[in-house]
Amino acid sequence: MKILVAVKRVVDANVKVQSRSDGTGVDTVNLKMSMNPFDEIAVEEAVRLKESGIATEVVAVSAGVVQAQETLRTALAIGADRAILIESNEVLEPLAVAKLLKALVEKEQPHLVILGKQAIDDDSNQTGQMLAALANLPQATFASKLVIAGGKATVAREVDGGAETLSLMLPAVVTTDLRLNEPRYVTLPSIMKAKKKQLDTMKPADLGVDVSPRLKTLKVVPPVRRAQGMKVPDVKTLVEKLTIEAKVL
Ligand code: AMP
Repeated sequence: MKILVAVKRVVDANVKVQSRSDGTGVDTVNLKMSMNPFDEIAVEEAVRLKESGIATEVVAVSAGVVQAQETLRTALAIGADRAILIESNEVLEPLAVAKLLKALVEKEQPHLVILGKQAIDDDSNQTGQMLAALANLPQATFASKLVIAGGKATVAREVDGGAETLSLMLPAVVTTDLRLNEPRYVTLPSIMKAKKKQLDTMKPADLGVDVSPRLKTLKVVPPVRRAQGMKVPDVKTLVEKLTIEAKVL
């Protein structure tokens, strides 16, 4: 069983981002970049399936600038067998990524595609769903448990009202939620080993996909700063302030 895992290079989750002064986007110059946290969970799950003898090959794929090779090397260090970079300097919208992944699914014929539920830079939460629709594959999003057996994936997923369990025929698309697993710590020997693993590069045109943006960002501005809070000595003062000053009671 072959698993394809999609990994995105994003601004590290611990970095506080700022918008560019001209409002054209987020300033990413000299910022620490990392693998999208939900994608780390996706790679970890695929590698665990390989370690348990269920999967035979894990292929990591990233679409983006040449530096996304570093993200792919991290996936290889976690335990992916080989990696593919679809190199592009365009701003890649979820639809473009989904089209690229669909073309790769046709080429690689994986039994399972695992993606993160969302990328923490654009928070779109769209690519997995779009891929499933374009490739006509069953999908289970926000997976908190994944069991593969008898050509099926059983997926527990977190929904508004609680938990839901879906059974999907393979091949299928699964997107990861935070509780699916805790990714391993990547050791130095595995980073060294990852340097020797196969990493192929292709261009969107090689997959016959036009990735030109369909959306135009008009303006990016930081959120309005919240007014400073205050401490009150007792409940009486609190009620007074809410009634007389704020007029909310
Ligand atoms: P999004 O729909 O942008 O929130 O992204 C959801 C998931 O799609 C991510 O967690 C990744 O698994 C995958 N994905 C999005 N963009 C890319 C990309 N440029 N390269 C590889 N995978 C991506």
